[in-house]
Amino acid sequence: MSLNYASLICAAALTVVAVSACNSDSSSSRPATDDELMQYLVGSNLRFGMAHDLIRDTDTITQTCLFGSRYRDEWDDETDAFLGYWDREQEILLPPHAELECLSWRWNDDLIPVKTNGSELAERAMDEIERVFNRHVFDRHSIANVPDDEIDAGIIVSMGTSPVPDGADPRAFCANVAVGPNDLSPISNNIWQDDASYEIDFPVFINLGNPDCSPNLNIVIHEFGHAMGLEGHFPGFGMGGAISNNFWLVLFSLYNNPPGTREQDLLLHRPFGF
Ligand SMILES: [Zn+2]
Repeated sequence: MSLNYASLICAAALTVVAVSACNSDSSSSRPATDDELMQYLVGSNLRFGMAHDLIRDTDTITQTCLFGSRYRDEWDDETDAFLGYWDREQEILLPPHAELECLSWRWNDDLIPVKTNGSELAERAMDEIERVFNRHVFDRHSIANVPDDEIDAGIIVSMGTSPVPDGADPRAFCANVAVGPNDLSPISNNIWQDDASYEIDFPVFINLGNPDCSPNLNIVIHEFGHAMGLEGHFPGFGMGGAISNNFWLVLFSLYNNPPGTREQDLLLHRPFGF
């Protein structure tokens, strides 16, 4: 896949981590190791979770657990151990009051409601995800005729509403996933604001295209990956290509661990022969 193509995907990234990592093409022809795939899953999806009486910092939760805003002055360089972080009141919390847990989050095991708004590419993207998963994943009917702004939970494909920042190249912002149309807010922001179920149970918008750019099938599959919980990019997902074997293994593994799985309890699933 060309560098142009990779950078185009990267420009649609939602997280600072992903954007900053996009300048280097980290793709490789060798298969990723299990350790690398686990690192990709943790970096892309896991976030600081509710830890007992701890109130999370809304800035902190948008960071990944691998690159999170742990309190630097309390960082122990010798052991690389987590020692504390800020709460919502900007107070520094230290153990035992600040037990850090990195937790997964995703849609639950029910079929994911999807409204395509007539996008043929979205249908084909779902077909491909269900072919690889070898099961039904999506409910394509229950919200199909519900107005976008009346949908309580589901993936809403929104045509032509990919936001383009002022002065940016619209071809570099061809598609994104956010909490609304023409929006840049990461969906993980909403995970922590309700019941700490670690489930996506709210409207998630896949914004496809703008007047100067139309995404192809692989980009649409890539965006479904974002909408299913892979928030950050990694090699083979927005870095060195829109999707790849790495993408499929990380997405499949996310959906074969329960929502809210702790980092240390995550299991990698590698059933595809690659
Ligand atoms: Zn992306």
